[in-house]
Amino acid sequence: MGNFRFGKHGWRVCTVFVFLISYFLSLTSPASGVYFSCSTGGEKTVALTFDDGPHPVYTREILGILEQYGIRATFFCIGCNAGQYPEIVREIAAAGHEIGNHTYGHPNLGCAAYEGARAEILEMENALPADVETRPRLFRPPGGMYCDEVCRAAADLDYSVILWSVDTRDWAHTAVEDIAENVLTNTEAGDIILFHDYVSGDSPTPEALRRILPELIERGFSFCTVGEMIGK
Ligand SMILES: [Zn+2]
Repeated sequence: MGNFRFGKHGWRVCTVFVFLISYFLSLTSPASGVYFSCSTGGEKTVALTFDDGPHPVYTREILGILEQYGIRATFFCIGCNAGQYPEIVREIAAAGHEIGNHTYGHPNLGCAAYEGARAEILEMENALPADVETRPRLFRPPGGMYCDEVCRAAADLDYSVILWSVDTRDWAHTAVEDIAENVLTNTEAGDIILFHDYVSGDSPTPEALRRILPELIERGFSFCTVGEMIGK
C-alpha cells in the first residue's frame, strides 16, 4: 500500500471520509437531535447557514445581501470572533437572523470528551455580548466532526446538532461559478446549505450569493432559519 501521509489535501480527504461515515451511521441509527437536512412537508424551503464569523468585512456584506432579498439565515458564530466583534453579533441578531453556536475556539471535536465539548459550547455562549438576549439552541461542531459525547453534551445543554446537506466549499476559495453551479444543481427542499461568513483572504461567498439567491427565488424556493426548519 505504501506509506499514507497527510499531504496537501490529505486532511480534507480525511474530513470528508469521517463526515461520510458519520452521515451513513446517522442514517442507520440516527442520534437524536442531529440534523443534516429536514423534511419541510412539501414546502420548497431551504436554510442558509454561515459559519466561523463574525468577520469584520464579509459578515456585514452578507447581511446586506440577505436584507436585499428579505432572507433570514442562521449564523454559526465562533466565540473568539464574537468576542472580538460584538457589534457585528448585535447586527446579526437585530436583523432577525439566528445565532448558532460553533464552539469558542473551533477545535476538532471528532474524539472529544464530554467535558471538553461542554466547555467549548458554554465558553462560546459567554463570549456573546450580554445584550443579545437569545441564547443559541443550535450547535454545529467544527468541520462536522463529532462523536456521541459531543451529542450528549449538546443535548444536555438543550442544543440540537446541525450539520448540512449542501456544502458550498467556499472555505476552500472555490470559484464563484463552481459554488453557484453546485448549489443550483443540488439544492432541494429541506436542505441546510453550508456557507462561511468568515473566510481568510478573499471570500467568494458574497458574489456567489448574488448569483445563487435570485435564481433560487426564481425557482420558487423560500428561506428560513434552521431553528424554524426543525421547529426549535
Ligand atoms: Zn467552522
